[in-house]
Amino acid sequence: SPLRNIYGFTQLLQEDYRGKLDKKADDRFDRIINNVKRMQSLIDDLLTFSRVDSSTRPLGKVKMQQVFNDTRDLLMQSITDSKADVSCDTLPTVIGDRSQMVHLLQNLIGNAIKYHSDQPPKIYLSAIKKGEEWIFSVADNGIGIAPEYHKQIFEIFKRLHTQRQYPGTGIGLAVCRRIVERHNGRIWIESESGKGATFYFTATAMSEADT
Ligand code: ADP
Repeated sequence: SPLRNIYGFTQLLQEDYRGKLDKKADDRFDRIINNVKRMQSLIDDLLTFSRVDSSTRPLGKVKMQQVFNDTRDLLMQSITDSKADVSCDTLPTVIGDRSQMVHLLQNLIGNAIKYHSDQPPKIYLSAIKKGEEWIFSVADNGIGIAPEYHKQIFEIFKRLHTQRQYPGTGIGLAVCRRIVERHNGRIWIESESGKGATFYFTATAMSEADT
């Protein structure tokens, strides 16, 4: 709320004084507003990060097909804007926290759209069963990541680009890792620079008795 107030008052000041002071003042108002917006995104993302482990919702049956459909609806605007093709295999039911699973896919598919190459984004989600777990993969045809950065991108605030190149807070993949680890799973990436990226994560399969 204090940040919302700063934003509101700065906007009022800007409306009252735009064009009445010099160009430098107009430019500084724009900078303050942009920084406040960025601060708001950082606080929102940090709150999400800190709340992953404190969720009290018990893990239950989660139909990943429905999670995928919900995620695609949430991302519809950026899918349409970027002309992305987002599709999936038939997806299984796993044990998890439904809203955290939506958040996980939203971050991974959102990144696959954001870090696209000069081709329209093509994103494919699939799952294969291995023993007691499902291995999910989110594959894209975007800019890719060189192997030396594969570990650090899952750390909080680690980014490989400037705000000007790609806006972001550097918290999304750290949230993904926390969500996957809360589900006793693992998350990793396979990619080379310029050759797209595939993110993998594991989730516990339903036992035969529960399906
Ligand atoms: P943000 O996108 O806010 O920077 P993330 O934690 O989601 O933060 O991602 C960390 C970094 O990993 C990004 O800055 C980007 O360099 C890289 N990255 C994430 N997803 C992809 C992807 N699908 N393709 C290429 N690079 C990616």
